[in-house]
Amino acid sequence: MVVSLAALASRQKSYCSQEEAAGAAVMESSSLHLARRMAALEPSATLAMAARAGAMKAAGLDVVDLSVGEPDFPTPEHICRAAEEAIRAGFTKYTPAAGIPALRKAVAEDYTRRTGLAVTPAQVVVSNGAKHALHNVFTAVLDEGDEVVVPAPFWVSYAELVKLAGGRPVLIETSIEDNFKLRPEALRAALTPRTRMLLVCSPSNPTGVVYRPDELAALADVALEADLAVVADEIYDQLVFDGRTSPSFPTLRPGLESRTVVVAGVSKTYSMTGWRIGWTIAPEPLSKAIGNLQSQETSNPSSIGQHAAVAALTGPQECVTAMRDAFQKRRDLVAGRLRSMPGVRLPDIGGAFYAFFDISPALERSRSAGFGSSLQWCAGLLERQQVALVAGSAFGAEGHVRMSFAASDDDLNRGLDRIAAFLADPAASRT
Ligand code: PMP
Ligand code: GLU
Repeated sequence: MVVSLAALASRQKSYCSQEEAAGAAVMESSSLHLARRMAALEPSATLAMAARAGAMKAAGLDVVDLSVGEPDFPTPEHICRAAEEAIRAGFTKYTPAAGIPALRKAVAEDYTRRTGLAVTPAQVVVSNGAKHALHNVFTAVLDEGDEVVVPAPFWVSYAELVKLAGGRPVLIETSIEDNFKLRPEALRAALTPRTRMLLVCSPSNPTGVVYRPDELAALADVALEADLAVVADEIYDQLVFDGRTSPSFPTLRPGLESRTVVVAGVSKTYSMTGWRIGWTIAPEPLSKAIGNLQSQETSNPSSIGQHAAVAALTGPQECVTAMRDAFQKRRDLVAGRLRSMPGVRLPDIGGAFYAFFDISPALERSRSAGFGSSLQWCAGLLERQQVALVAGSAFGAEGHVRMSFAASDDDLNRGLDRIAAFLADPAASRT
């Protein structure tokens, strides 16, 4: 089923603060009025919730923040050291816009080593995080009105970035019974003469679901038949649990390499969210275009961050395994406890660090108390129990909420205790 974007936008609007709304009104009356493209732009719900939880913490409240998705571990020591050495060695100036040769080479070699697919450094463009890499691809590839198929639940920024580039996100609902996986027949049914691109994210943010290779291959067949471009967001590709594999999309069928852009980065794998280094791996002519775009828009990503990322990719990889194992243990803790809560349902979490769970029976019960939508429920949970989650409506899946389990066991247990208390009695407050 295709989800209405207008309905989604009106639900997300409530993430705007009153100050933002007042600011927008002032802008409307001046010659600095906002461009039409801004009217449709929603703020990032994940970052908005994290900011709200942060402000409450700063005011002295005991908030358990399970909203934003970022590893809670420090960036590994050898990576930090490489950054310090880069500063001292004078790598503090502009670099080539598409990234330093050493990093483009390290990305290409790391990808080839892990996937078996030969790619060259010229196919890699290093950007200011994977979010910027996605923005680059959409801007470089989409024409006005081109449709991009996005399976819902989807990560909050996809629809907005597509719209900013002039494209039209076509959101396809998936069901928890299918583990929130897009089926090839649903993809086929959504195709129109304007369909230009398919976006796939596995392991998925927000659901943590990992597609099996045959499931991805079935989507690849449709992409090949319908001549679609594919953006494969593989930023969580190394955070997979239970010995699963998460194959890179272009490896699934011959002919995919020339139509797929892989997006990834160091943010999640190496706990480097603040360093802002991500990349695209694309056919060479598109890479060149993305590099040109970036040279006009942002120039190079941070020179120091790039040197740190070289150390991340070429240095010891035990830190990746250790963090992945810790996330798997937390997945066990969180999934086990959530499944024991009456009325809560969640899919099979195979990777990343999110639990995306269905609370629709609880929403029904607490409608009269004013907590009938996922957004109201999350606001109530934050106010009464001081736990920050993100409403499912922001991800195109009302009736659900997302919890990040990139937090300590202690925080997870405290958060889960409070979630259980709120599910049992939304009227009760901790204080
Ligand atoms: N894609 C997905 C699925 C994500 O969860 C994130 C998290 N921010 C990004 C892209 C962007 O990553 P980065 O922080 O490197 O911009
Ligand atoms: N991707 C993370 C999340 O979903 C970080 C926040 C963001 O970039 O939106 O929480």
